[in-house]
Amino acid sequence: MVKSIIDSQARPEIEGMKSEMALEKLQDTVIRCRKCPRLVACLQEVPAHKPKRFRDWDYWSKPLPSFGDPDARVLIVGLAPAAQGGNRTGRMFTGDRSGEWLFNALYKFGFANQPNSLRSDDGFKLSDCYITATIRCAPPQNKPLPEEIENCRPYFLKELDLLEKIKVIVPLGQIAFTQTLKSLRLTGFNTPSLSFGHGKIYSLRTPNSQFLTLITTYHPSQQNTQTGKLTRPMFHQIFEMVRKKL
Ligand code: SF4
Repeated sequence: MVKSIIDSQARPEIEGMKSEMALEKLQDTVIRCRKCPRLVACLQEVPAHKPKRFRDWDYWSKPLPSFGDPDARVLIVGLAPAAQGGNRTGRMFTGDRSGEWLFNALYKFGFANQPNSLRSDDGFKLSDCYITATIRCAPPQNKPLPEEIENCRPYFLKELDLLEKIKVIVPLGQIAFTQTLKSLRLTGFNTPSLSFGHGKIYSLRTPNSQFLTLITTYHPSQQNTQTGKLTRPMFHQIFEMVRKKL
């Protein structure tokens, strides 16, 4: 989509590869990442405190790769993996409550082949959509430190570079929105200060004079869905907006 400032030292051989292969290599690099000692240590601890319902699970407990369609026009940006969700199943949003909402909406609007996914091997596939996150290791209390977000940013920047067809970005929640904007500015977007809220739509001019749409939403976390701050119709409205923009 855009040429970005990239941590090319992280994996110089990615440069020059075809996008799909380069994305795969990038995700291989992510899985082996150990840049955040606090998070790496925390991931090792999580399986020792499994809830009973997951006691038979062999937890993934490594950084989570992004996934989806390399030709996607829609990019979903989450905050971070859930300790008992994606961190358990090995795929972002898979097997957690936020994922139930997200996958259901993606299915309803034609971006996924199943309305939910509880395991990474259940055949769930995204179409025209790619899912990434602000950070890729589950942080304690879902609260990453600023330096951990910065450590993880080069992976997101590289994805922005490799996902050449992205037209619409949907950051889930305010932190993902703020961090997405920061990353876009680093890639050369001259974006003004934008306010967060549910259902806002912004048209941004890319450094090569094309347009990219940013659509904001509350995060489908239980904190929002169980309190009624975010309802299904509100969440589905976001994907209606996405469809209209494509
Ligand atoms: S959060 Fe990102 S940068 Fe930090 S260890 Fe995990 S993958 Fe690496």
